[in-house]
Amino acid sequence: MPREISFIGFGSNVGDRQELCDRAIALMNLLPLSQVTGVSSYYETEPVDPEGRLGGHWFYNGIVRLETSLSPQRLLAILQETERGLGRNEINRQGPRTMDFDLLLFGQHQIDQPGLTVPHPRLHKRRFVMEPLVELDPAYIHPALHRSMHELLEALDDPNQVTKLSIKPGSTYPARPTCSVPTASE
Ligand code: ADP
Ligand code: MG
Repeated sequence: MPREISFIGFGSNVGDRQELCDRAIALMNLLPLSQVTGVSSYYETEPVDPEGRLGGHWFYNGIVRLETSLSPQRLLAILQETERGLGRNEINRQGPRTMDFDLLLFGQHQIDQPGLTVPHPRLHKRRFVMEPLVELDPAYIHPALHRSMHELLEALDDPNQVTKLSIKPGSTYPARPTCSVPTASE
């Protein structure tokens, strides 16, 4: 696969939400054939939950910008495995969740397959997605709507509350300094 820029949304509304989001970022730094090239702030967000399945708990949400040579199908499969690793309830997937990943954008690709739709069909309707996307890349053009993320946020009608937090994303697991190679005399 050629290298592509992708945007991955993450969100948690169960347990220690900050720690879970920090762990999600640390795990994305370990993805093969990929580099994290941007992380948005964290946002505390009101659940978008017309059917009342999410338990009323507010989310921490954010977005990672990932440059990757993985295929979108492989990337989503790894993200779903990572959700399980972070304790996602497999029996009640639609309920409160320790971690939810959404593959929002994958270059300018448009994909409509069983189990994978890109761009994510609801991204431009959700304030909790659009605010961090605009923070990361306001000029990015939506491949199907042909409008920038900034324009889409301006046009958005989503009354759900979204508050940008001042905490530093990823701060529970900062990158460690690399080990130095021992010299011959050691
Ligand atoms: P939610 O819509 O609340 O995020 P899930 O995480 O359980 O719910 O995802 C539901 C389904 O959406 C999964 O089976 C997944 O295959 C499918 N899906 C389709 N397109 C995407 C995408 N772009 N990103 C994430 N999941 C997707
Ligand atoms: Mg999901």
